[in-house]
Amino acid sequence: EGDDLSLIITDLTDQKAIQPELKEKNILLESAKATSEKLNNELELRVKERTHELLLSREHFKFLADNIPVIIWTASPDGFYDYFNHQWYNYTGLTFEQSKEMAWKQVIHPDDLGSTLVEWESSMNKGKPFKKENRLRSADGAYRWHLVQALPFKSKEGEILAWFGVETDIDDKKKEMKKKDEFIGMASHELKTPVTSLKIFTEIMLLDAEGKGNTKEAVMLQKMDKQINKLTVLIGDLLDASKANSGKLKYNFEEIDFNKLVAEMISEAEVTSSRHKLELKLADSANIQGDRNRLGQVIANFLSNAIKYSPNAEKIVIFSKKTDKDIIFSVRDFGIGISISDQPKVFSRFFRVSENTFPGLGLGLYICKEIIERHEGTIYFESKEGKGSTFSFSLPLKKTA
Ligand code: ADP
Repeated sequence: EGDDLSLIITDLTDQKAIQPELKEKNILLESAKATSEKLNNELELRVKERTHELLLSREHFKFLADNIPVIIWTASPDGFYDYFNHQWYNYTGLTFEQSKEMAWKQVIHPDDLGSTLVEWESSMNKGKPFKKENRLRSADGAYRWHLVQALPFKSKEGEILAWFGVETDIDDKKKEMKKKDEFIGMASHELKTPVTSLKIFTEIMLLDAEGKGNTKEAVMLQKMDKQINKLTVLIGDLLDASKANSGKLKYNFEEIDFNKLVAEMISEAEVTSSRHKLELKLADSANIQGDRNRLGQVIANFLSNAIKYSPNAEKIVIFSKKTDKDIIFSVRDFGIGISISDQPKVFSRFFRVSENTFPGLGLGLYICKEIIERHEGTIYFESKEGKGSTFSFSLPLKKTA
């Protein structure tokens, strides 16, 4: 018993000894608890704020998405649609259940669906933006043209997190464009006949004036003839561009001695520009399958552009190269060149560098591209602003098919 007592006493003594330490620890604990509580409160407040912000930004997104006049959707990286805005439901008359995953396919016009699926698949695989014009079926069954664009939303590491799609109704614009095209086609067709007879009568009068030795009149008639030629080219370009646009440009394929054709076009161009020296560096000639008039038109266009857009230069270099597969023809000028920002638009219909003061309709190169592509060739150029441009095309030596 005495032993037990002495044990308790020692125990108590020990306890007494650690009491200040305990007290200190307790204070620390209290303060830690207070800090953690404070942190906790702060955290809670922050979470509340963030949730509110998120909610707000989601509401902002929804408000924006539902109130702009385009269809918007989002999809997962593998193309499963998970959100559509109001415009989608309004336009298609579908529910979310009917639209999600790949069910949207049903609204695309059957003629546009195949290419859409191929291109969309390729965009998703490459993570590249998607852009296509499609006809989409509306709730009442009518189809309207839409410009469909989709952009991949990526993480900092470049991983695709989602796809954002925008579909803009371009039906009215397309109809307007069609009307405009039809008008241009009709107007240029109607203008052709009177200008052709003007040309014929001018030439008869010119011959007559020259025969009578009436120089003053002959000079005026020559000027008139030159202006009529310009008019003829302009009307021809308008007519060709409108035909090319509707796929109605006609071709007569035959075998052509390429260098002979180039020589013909050069001698014609030399008549129009006496100031430029045309330097020729042609490879051996080759026979190609093509439409003589159309290819001549391309060469003439390259030459007349080179002359027109290098008013302060003296020479133009015309060269060609032959490989075992194709012939490459180039026209190089030392003129105003084309700025980097304008370069992608050069082959577009009606494109002209805005500030330039040179005459033209911006159709020549558009027609050239159509013609060269119809010959299974390629057309391209290199240009440096203020230094000059080189326009080229390649044509296959033997037409396959
Ligand atoms: P245009 O009738 O206006 O010459 P094109 O289709 O032949 O039409 O050319 C389109 C535009 O490209 C021109 O308006 C011009 O701005 C630019 N361009 C074409 N060729 C050249 C060139 N050789 N040098 C500089 N700019 C050129």
